[in-house]
Amino acid sequence: MLVRKLEEGTVVDHIPDWKAQTVSKVLRLDKLAKMQSETSVAILQNVVSKTLGRKDVIKIDRWLVDEKEADILSLIFPTITVNYIDDWKVSKYTPKVPDVIEGRIRCPEVNCVSNSEREPVVSKFSTLKRERRLQCHYCDTTVPLERIPDLVRA
Ligand SMILES: [Zn+2]
Repeated sequence: MLVRKLEEGTVVDHIPDWKAQTVSKVLRLDKLAKMQSETSVAILQNVVSKTLGRKDVIKIDRWLVDEKEADILSLIFPTITVNYIDDWKVSKYTPKVPDVIEGRIRCPEVNCVSNSEREPVVSKFSTLKRERRLQCHYCDTTVPLERIPDLVRA
């Protein structure tokens, strides 16, 4: 794999095999690439992994993924690990399952106050860890964690 080391950026590692596109969607990497013209993204799929057998890896040059975004990813893919690279030095970040998620995810209930056009409020979800669902703070609608990629705000 002819992908050079990063001087500065983020490596999202231990993504389940063939799930890199979902990770890319959650992190909105397409938008990022448009906004930050110096950023480039390498997606490696079906890479041999000691722990997972096969895995996907995403390398993002010149962009540090927000820790909160990494935490949201870990809800969907608990195996992921994140490495931040600054001046060739790597620091590992272990994502934490967030108790509350504000603003990043849209409530699927159209009548929810967080979807109101007149008086919108910032969406807010609590994580129901055992049920593997999110629960809306305003309307109590629950959604399975697997639906998060579809509900990420554009
Ligand atoms: Zn709601």
